[in-house]
Amino acid sequence: MLPYESQAVQGNFAAVGIFIIVILVLCVLEIVAWVVFSFGLYKDAEGNYNQNPLMWALLSGFLGLIPTIIYFCVRTKNSYRFACPHCRNPLQVPTPVCPFCRNAIDSSAIPPENPAYVELRRKGKNQMITGAILYGLTIILTIVFTVVFSFWFAAFINAEIGMNSYSYWNSSLSLFFR
Ligand SMILES: [Zn+2]
Repeated sequence: MLPYESQAVQGNFAAVGIFIIVILVLCVLEIVAWVVFSFGLYKDAEGNYNQNPLMWALLSGFLGLIPTIIYFCVRTKNSYRFACPHCRNPLQVPTPVCPFCRNAIDSSAIPPENPAYVELRRKGKNQMITGAILYGLTIILTIVFTVVFSFWFAAFINAEIGMNSYSYWNSSLSLFFR
């Protein structure tokens, strides 16, 4: 009789089913977390005067980590600019000295930034943090749950049908690839 045909293993297909359902739920949560992060990144890009906030949000959303890291490298490239009161060249905030004419910039001479952009950056940052924390938690839960389940399943197989770990892995594989 093959291992997967034993009564004990068949009786615990429910446990395997529950395991798969929990993993699927965690996968959905991971996707939700990443979508939340990407929406936050979109707002952050808008709030940082990025020319292509949608492009960055989609790249981050679909391709994940690498475009996200690139985004954070170029994130403040287009931050709030104003004309130098001395030479009229465009300056980024904050800047105590104009790099063009070397004149000191009086902070009271800086025209106030549109508060809508400040708000976009604040919202975007909060959303990115929320998404990243949720994503990290679901990843950790997935790993912990998989490890715990694997140990439980191995112990169960050993106890029920007295297999060694080598034949456990073979029987585990044959459960899914018969
Ligand atoms: Zn200047």
